[in-house]
Amino acid sequence: MVDYIVVGLGLSGISVCERLEENGLGYRVFEGGVQKASVVAAGLINPVILKRFTLAWKADEQLEIAIPFYKNIEEKLRVKLFYPNNIYRRFNSAEEQNNWFSAADKPGLSDFLNTELKPKLNSCIKSDYGFGEVLHTGTVNTELMISEYGIHLRKQDKISFENFDYDALKIEENHLEYKGLEAKKIIFCEGFGLINNPFFNYLPLTGNKGEYITIYSEELQMNEIVKSSVFIIPIGNNLYRVGATYNNQDKSPEPTTKAREELIRKLSAVISCKFDVVDQVAGIRPASKDRRPLAGQHPEYRNLYCCNGFGSRGMLISPMLSEEIIKLTETAEPLPLEVDLARFTKKHYSV
Ligand SMILES: Cc1cc2nc3c(=O)[nH]c(=O)nc-3n(C[C@H](O)[C@H](O)[C@H](O)COP(=O)(O)OP(=O)(O)OC[C@H]3O[C@@H](n4cnc5c(N)ncnc54)[C@H](O)[C@@H]3O)c2cc1C
Repeated sequence: MVDYIVVGLGLSGISVCERLEENGLGYRVFEGGVQKASVVAAGLINPVILKRFTLAWKADEQLEIAIPFYKNIEEKLRVKLFYPNNIYRRFNSAEEQNNWFSAADKPGLSDFLNTELKPKLNSCIKSDYGFGEVLHTGTVNTELMISEYGIHLRKQDKISFENFDYDALKIEENHLEYKGLEAKKIIFCEGFGLINNPFFNYLPLTGNKGEYITIYSEELQMNEIVKSSVFIIPIGNNLYRVGATYNNQDKSPEPTTKAREELIRKLSAVISCKFDVVDQVAGIRPASKDRRPLAGQHPEYRNLYCCNGFGSRGMLISPMLSEEIIKLTETAEPLPLEVDLARFTKKHYSV
């Protein structure tokens, strides 16, 4: 018997596994490779909403936990994952500059918005109004983290690389049984895959497809992360990730020509040097109706839990929420109401 089954090894699953380890609890992960949001994510750890210059929901608290959390995984896996790198927001008008300076005076934001305007960043990047620097940000190489974490779990025989079959789960009063494996509890971390989960698919998860292109440019020679209408993120060897798109309608997993053209058009409006597109990826962000996580206990089956709904901010949300969910599963400490899935009607689940 293990203490937990964890379904999914994206940002949510990894964070949950880390918390289980910290608490000395045994677990087995099932990962079927059916969703890609965490694998394709840019891995940006950024507390500021760069459209409006506001602090993202609880981002300051989350940031304090997130950076040590990823550094700890980096040390454990002995692989470089975290790159501190501030973001430069390109201003489109004098009004935007003014909004930046007023935002920088506000409590909460003053720690993150540098009040020294940077007039120019790079000869290839057009800018009439300069750039504002967001401090204390960085990126994690999520693709590498997930593959190395999978290897780490496989060495300890704690993971099965297969799709979890919901029909094979037998739920008893005090334990669960799944294909001969007994567990006390299960935590579902399937991202947008939740829509196939008969126990939790009553929750209002509205996927949002995101796509990135990778470009190669010898001329660009840029080390900073730039945000204009798209992010431009240097990843080394003259390669840059450019994105992402947001699409509420298309839930297909494949990259699209439409997104590629949109990103090329937006990038060409900002940089003046030559580039080639060398790759393109897509994933579905698990977004909720009210833009808050969907976490907690099943309303009827008390040993079933879900940790989901990270939307476009999984890097910051998952380290904190995973701590809260393990407090719930182990000590029955309630989750903050705004993330608890109990806020959605309990009557409409279908099994
Ligand atoms: C293009 C793009 C860029 C992004 N950039 C950023 C960024 O820079 N910063 C940021 O904070 N966020 C970013 N995000 C959002 C972030 O990726 C998500 O918030 C986060 O990855 C969600 O993690 P998750 O573990 O909940 O879901 P997922 O990453 O979807 O992981 C779920 C896992 O469960 C597995 N699974 C599902 N069903 C089953 C099943 N039945 N059996 C077994 N396994 C199953 C899937 O294969 C998958 O591995 C980005 C998203 C996209 C699409």
